[in-house]
Formats: sequence, structure tokens, C-alpha cells
Amino acid sequence: MIDLRSDTVTRPSRAMLEEMMVAPVGDDVYGDDPTVNELQRYAAGLAGKDAALFLPTGTQANLVALLSHCERGEEYIVGQGAHNYLYEAGGAAVLGSIQPQPIDAAADGTLPLDKVAAKIKADDIHFARTKLLSIENTHNGKVLPRDYLRQAWEFTRERKLGLHVDGARIFNAVVEYGCELKEIAQYCDSFTICLSKGLGTPVGSLLVGSHDYIKRATRWRKMTGGGMRQAGILAAAGLYALKNNVARLQDDHDNAAWLAEQLREIGADVMRHDTNMLFVRVGDAQAAALGAYMRERDVLINASPVVRLVTHLDVSREQLSDVVSHWKAFLAQ
Ligand SMILES: *Cc1c(COP(=O)(O)O)cnc(C)c1O
Repeated sequence: MIDLRSDTVTRPSRAMLEEMMVAPVGDDVYGDDPTVNELQRYAAGLAGKDAALFLPTGTQANLVALLSHCERGEEYIVGQGAHNYLYEAGGAAVLGSIQPQPIDAAADGTLPLDKVAAKIKADDIHFARTKLLSIENTHNGKVLPRDYLRQAWEFTRERKLGLHVDGARIFNAVVEYGCELKEIAQYCDSFTICLSKGLGTPVGSLLVGSHDYIKRATRWRKMTGGGMRQAGILAAAGLYALKNNVARLQDDHDNAAWLAEQLREIGADVMRHDTNMLFVRVGDAQAAALGAYMRERDVLINASPVVRLVTHLDVSREQLSDVVSHWKAFLAQ
């Protein structure tokens, strides 16, 4: 199978599984798991921040992040299409009584700071208290302009807001900037990392921030059911991923660019490609037929009018070349 639906479909490699097999473990709720502790220390070190916390999923990492920034009756400003507004079942509102204030993102994926400023509420008993700005990098594959990160940081300092970055794919941004993680992590209070996407682990995310912040987050993680026991088996995969699978994200970006170019050449309507994602307009009528045609040829795509194709460590250039051939045959019929 060639699976282009998402970079979450990656399987652990033999080398990663071997690390998991031999990982020293302990009860992480007691803080006793040496491999979890090492992963958290390692990630905090890469980020130049005090501390990190290992969680089962990115959704829980974002929820715990928001709960650790905002209390009941407080508010976060967030993009309409942001994962932690749109795709997390309203968790912050449902479980935290935290009010989201969504705004439209600009075409480059940023939340324009003048628009953010216009939504910050005055200190008035009628209003929720605005506490946090939450941005996403990468957003639908788009790397936020590097200048914006510093501007958002300075803006939130002036306005006394926290700044959280949903960095599920932050390393795709790091590879694209050609910088170190700490060079961009300095411009936020907290951020998340998904280990289970392009980095290729079966499970796991990290939340990174200051000592006090991560201490609060650890309590929220326990309350939301994310306190795991011998989690070092999973953390070992995360350590392996951070040490071996970051630089190679460039291959995924190169493959996405190559696939975009090839599909354009055969007449497909490629709207854009950014980092490891491309978006191809196929239209309502063709979507289901294309999906079925590809599935018969062992290629999995999300059959929708605009197909999002995602490259990752389990698809090679040769396999993508087969996808282009099938696509061409589909268009020719
Ligand atoms: C996937 C994703 C998440 C959530 O991660 P899960 O591990 O699937 O819960 C959060 N934010 C963004 C931007 C994502 O792409």
C-alpha cells in the first residue's frame, strides 16, 4: 500500500522497534521512568526551554497546554482552521470552560496581529478575560514567516498574553527554516510536538515550556487520564525519532515538491504544495472515482474535491512515480 492520506500512517522502523525493546522503564506517574525522563530532558534541551512533558496524543497535549495557560472564564485567540479550535471536539471549552475566540488566518497561515489586537477584550465584567494567543506552525503545511514568530512574541509581551504554538509539525518548519529548534522556540511560552506524524513513532507528543508551566501541565495530564506507567517503551521511540528522523524530513519536502511538479505536468490541478503536503483540485464529480481507482491500485488517498496528499518516511520516490502513472491513466480514461 502507498498511503498518502497523512503522515500519521507511518509504521515504526526495525531500528526504532529495537530501541523500544531494550528501553529501561519505570512507573512514570512516580517520575521513575528513566527513558521518559531522558526524552523530556532531551526535548527541553533541543528547545532551549526548562522542561517537557510526554503525552499520549497531540490533542491531549494541546488540551493540557490550554488548561495550563487559561482558567475558567478566560479566553484564547486562535485560528478558525486551527487544530486546537476546530479538530479537538471543543475540548478547551467542554473540559476547561475556556472560551475560544476564533479569527480568520491570513493566506500565509498567520493570525494578523492587528486582527488579534481588535479581539482582545477590555477588563470589564461583561467579557471573558483574554489570556492567550495560540498559533500553529506548520499550518496546513505552511511554514509561518520567521519574522512573524518574533513579532507575535513581542506583541504578546506588550499585551500581557501567553503565546502557545501548536507545533505538531514544528520540525517540518525547522527543516524549512534551516535553523535549530531553540532559535524559534525562544519566541513562545509553550509549544507541542507530535512524535507520531512525520517523525514516525507509533504514539506520543510533547509539551514544552517553563518549570512552573510544566508542573501545572503534569497535574492536568493526570486529571485528563494521560498519566502513563511504563511509558519508556513509547518514549524510546520518541528519542529515536528526535535523533534520527528530523533531518530526513527534507526528503519528504523534496518528494512533495517533486510530486507537485509531476502531477502538474500530466495536467492535474495542483493548487499548492508546502513542506510535506500538496493540495490537488479534482472536483466533486471525480473525487469518489479517483479514490476508488487509486484504491484498486493499492494507493490510499482521502477522496475529496480537494485532495490533500502527504509525503512521509514510508513513501519513496519510486512509489510516488507509480502514483503519477496511475493518476495519468485515470485522467486519460
Ligand atoms: C495532528 C495534529 C494535532 C493532534 O495530534 P493527535 O496526536 O492526532 O491528537 C494537533 N495539531 C495539529 C496541527 C495536528 O496536525
